[in-house]
Amino acid sequence: MEPSPFRGVVACLATMHGKQWALRPLLRRRLGMSVRVASVDTDALGTFTGEVRRVGSARETVVRKARLGMAATGSLVGLASEGAFGPHPAAPWTPADVEYVALVDDRSGLTVVESALSVETNHGQVITDGRDRAAVLAFLRRVGFPHHAVVVRPATGPGRPVKGLRRLADVLAAVRRAAVDSDDGTAVLGADLRAHVNPTRMRVIAAAGRRLARRLAAPCPACAAPGFGPVGAEPGLPCRDCGTPTPRDASLISGCGRCPYRSSRPVAGAADPGSCPACNP
Ligand SMILES: [Zn+2]
Ligand SMILES: [Zn+2]
Repeated sequence: MEPSPFRGVVACLATMHGKQWALRPLLRRRLGMSVRVASVDTDALGTFTGEVRRVGSARETVVRKARLGMAATGSLVGLASEGAFGPHPAAPWTPADVEYVALVDDRSGLTVVESALSVETNHGQVITDGRDRAAVLAFLRRVGFPHHAVVVRPATGPGRPVKGLRRLADVLAAVRRAAVDSDDGTAVLGADLRAHVNPTRMRVIAAAGRRLARRLAAPCPACAAPGFGPVGAEPGLPCRDCGTPTPRDASLISGCGRCPYRSSRPVAGAADPGSCPACNP
């Protein structure tokens, strides 16, 4: 194995939500990199509870976040993570969590973003006035409370969310208060998606971190810069039944974070007729 070009490097990680717990051990073990926490207000770039809307994609935001930490600490190497919750890209009825992790290295002009997708996520919410105790308890069970925290806010109006709730009495009191504050007398009870109170999400961040570490250990075949790996895909995988090109990936493209070198690798197999524009228009 080649020596890691990141051995002895101290990278700053922009986080207020304990992401060093997921990323620090594996980056040290796999790359010899140390992680210093930059306690910058990453909420300025968007929150899950909607007080601040995220501008741009998660992929753009994660790089901006890393740069925020670098600016605050004067560090030349920055790390950040950013999550996106929503329907699974290939199965829209399945909820998914995609976690992005970025490394920005201003010593060499390198930016590498890796991601991990998981269908193991507890994101979701219910509207309740708090009187149906059984419905509240069923929701709490579903999101893994109290191991995972929850958030409560009024269903309407400007009321701010109460985050990080992990005691049942606190949840019930917050629901009652939020319902009173809301014009329609109801509260929104949801999973708290911040990493330090959501172990399911923390695991997906660690998975993205492992991918980032693996990728940073892979040198570009053309210029030897670290971070050679997947940058995109070409659609057109043929249908198993009729051979028509489908929107599924036909080849995976790997690229360098520093030079324009690209290589592509065909995807084996064939697409399910369910995704075929001819068989399943
Ligand atoms: Zn077909
Ligand atoms: Zn290169």
